[in-house]
Amino acid sequence: MANATKDPVCGMDVNSGQSHYKAEHKGKHYAFCCQQCLTKFNQNPSQYTSKH
Ligand SMILES: [Zn+2]
Repeated sequence: MANATKDPVCGMDVNSGQSHYKAEHKGKHYAFCCQQCLTKFNQNPSQYTSKH
């Protein structure tokens, strides 16, 4: 029952249930592999959510 999702910044597979790095953007939840990716996302969320 892994909540597998993708880190939108680097494309790595992450487990959203276990990740300590999470963000919400326009009602969607994202999980990240590390603090660096989370910081990048927060600086410019639309850059990472507008494309696949
Ligand atoms: Zn990452």
